[in-house]
Amino acid sequence: MPAYKRILLKLSGEALMGDDAYGINRATIVRMVREIQEVTQLGCEVAVVIGGGNIFRGVAGGSVGMDRATADYMGMLATVMNALALADTMRQEGMTARVMSAISIDQVVEPYVRPKALQYLEEGKVVVFAGGTGNPFFTTDTAAALRGAEMGAQIMLKATKVDGVYTADPKKDPSATRYPTLTFDEAIIKNLQVLDATAFALCRDQKLPLKVFSIFKPGALKRVVMGGDEGTLVHV
Ligand code: UDP
Repeated sequence: MPAYKRILLKLSGEALMGDDAYGINRATIVRMVREIQEVTQLGCEVAVVIGGGNIFRGVAGGSVGMDRATADYMGMLATVMNALALADTMRQEGMTARVMSAISIDQVVEPYVRPKALQYLEEGKVVVFAGGTGNPFFTTDTAAALRGAEMGAQIMLKATKVDGVYTADPKKDPSATRYPTLTFDEAIIKNLQVLDATAFALCRDQKLPLKVFSIFKPGALKRVVMGGDEGTLVHV
């Protein structure tokens, strides 16, 4: 039995990039989708918020000096591309997925409608939330906290390159150790940047626990969902 019935998985755009400089790496996205499929087969309801960093990287040079809000809208559009790629790969792997966007691009994706999203989850479909929060000056981590709270997810899972929150940067300091658990207050006191301030405040206020783990470790998502000692749990 999975430890969580409904999860909100935040995937950064980088999770789809593999070793490429930017964009979507085919083998990587397939592997990512199979990891998600495994947890749906355990009976988990899965909502995904996807970032856009991998695509935005390709145009980052051109955005230098650009108005922040405009660049942010470009970033939101990048998340829509990732969401489409993710849902299409899910379809190819035999899963049923729906993309819902916070910015309306009606010909391409359906708009985010909360009751409909809840219905999809209840039907066992994977819902991929695109377009972040639909507002500039926010991040997809904040979108993940927001949608996680709206969907009544039991936990937000933040997939990163590192397998948890460490006492120091493990790449620079080999003696750094991983925190198995932390409270939100401890994370503030220790000045650990687990999420941006807006996302962090939302999770803490809504009592939405957060698990930080590495999606690059094969089987890690399943271990997290089964309640295994994987990554770092940040809780109230
Ligand atoms: N973005 C935004 N509002 C949101 C979510 C995202 O403006 O609610 C923009 C912002 O420019 C951000 C980009 O979309 O940099 C991609 O999101 P993010 O950087 O969070 O993606 P990730 O780094 O996780 O791939």
